[in-house]
Amino acid sequence: MITVESAVEIILKEIKPLGLESVDALSALGRVLGEDIRATRPNPPWDNSAMDGYALKSADIEKASKDSPVKLRVVYDLPAGQVPKGPVGDGEAVRIMTGAPVPIGADAVVMVEKTERGGEGFVLIKERAKKGENVRRAGEDFKNGDIVIPAGSVVRPAEVSMLATVGSPFVLVHKRPRVAVLSTGDELVDINEVPPLGKISNSNGYALAALVSETGAVPINLGIARDNKESLREKLSIAMNSDCIISSGGVSVGDYDFVKDVLKELGSEMIFWKVAMKPGKPLAFGVIGGKPAFGLPGNPISSMVAFEQFVRPALLKMSGRGRIFSALLSATLTKDIKIKPGRMNFIRAELTIDASGVTATPLEGQGSGVISTMVRANSFVVVPKDSEGFKAGDVVKVQFFDPSVFTRETPGY
Ligand code: AMP
Ligand code: MG
Repeated sequence: MITVESAVEIILKEIKPLGLESVDALSALGRVLGEDIRATRPNPPWDNSAMDGYALKSADIEKASKDSPVKLRVVYDLPAGQVPKGPVGDGEAVRIMTGAPVPIGADAVVMVEKTERGGEGFVLIKERAKKGENVRRAGEDFKNGDIVIPAGSVVRPAEVSMLATVGSPFVLVHKRPRVAVLSTGDELVDINEVPPLGKISNSNGYALAALVSETGAVPINLGIARDNKESLREKLSIAMNSDCIISSGGVSVGDYDFVKDVLKELGSEMIFWKVAMKPGKPLAFGVIGGKPAFGLPGNPISSMVAFEQFVRPALLKMSGRGRIFSALLSATLTKDIKIKPGRMNFIRAELTIDASGVTATPLEGQGSGVISTMVRANSFVVVPKDSEGFKAGDVVKVQFFDPSVFTRETPGY
């Protein structure tokens, strides 16, 4: 048996980020930038007012207070979007709106709440202001030529904001992997059929397609292949047009487990592993025409756990990401975990994060076909290969599989 760590390492060595394509700024959401974004102008572009108020010379109002306000002549109004009509002189002020360029001569803005009208054409300033107060300086955010988003960044709404700010309507991002998803088994029927005796619903096809989508990749649903070489050949040759192939089932040592044979026929140097993990022992992996192919186990939880450990990091790497492993949190166990040593166990658990800390509750029903436990779980407690388990109160490592917390470059088990 091979360890989980070695399997991850061997797989990731074969995976390369996909090429780049140009998309518009909004479509870049969730994608990985394939180029540095550089500013071609500073932000703010010019000194501007952070407040609605009066632009003035701070030296003029050094003595201003509530009891003895300073009276200044208002020379003009300056709404946002307009250009100053002229400089501010001694004893003068400009009525300025938030975002309008600060006129030459002014070095501070006093907010309107600290002023009072001082008769026709005048204002009373009731508080002093420091030089630079309420002025947003040109270039204080970034300078012309700065790298404002480095290549490799995942585009979130904040990055979209930056792209718009610097005026990048189109950007280069890594292509999304197109992933063929195939289920195998004579016992499978589709979601809309009521399974007769002996048959079950093809849950893996849907689960795996959902997991693929969640990584930002595009699932291509190839449906169900039957447990014979012809059916597998037919489906898998269609799968060759994708960037990555995932199948489930048919990789054990049963009489009808042909997936690894057919993948081999299609030209893959296939590696067949018994990975020292639970759930999810059997795993086939190979590269066909430069494309990774994963033969995942058939048991529903096994296939999902194997996806989390091997396929998700691979797809994230293909998508251009550097941080491809989920957050690994330290959590206090609320119940004992007792297992047979020899395999790394992934125990479905409910992770709770609150003011008193992070706790993990292992759930009842850890069988590899128990989907209801997976529905209630938000994490896996990682039990190392040679451990016999843990006691309540022990601090354990927990993979938190909320897709928004993919924070690690290495698995870190
Ligand atoms: P296998 O590895 O093909 O022997 O499958 C192991 C177990 O997983 C069997 O109980 C299968 O019925 C079940 N299984 C295989 N494929 C699927 C699937 N696509 N959806 C749900 N269960 C499956
Ligand atoms: Mg099968």
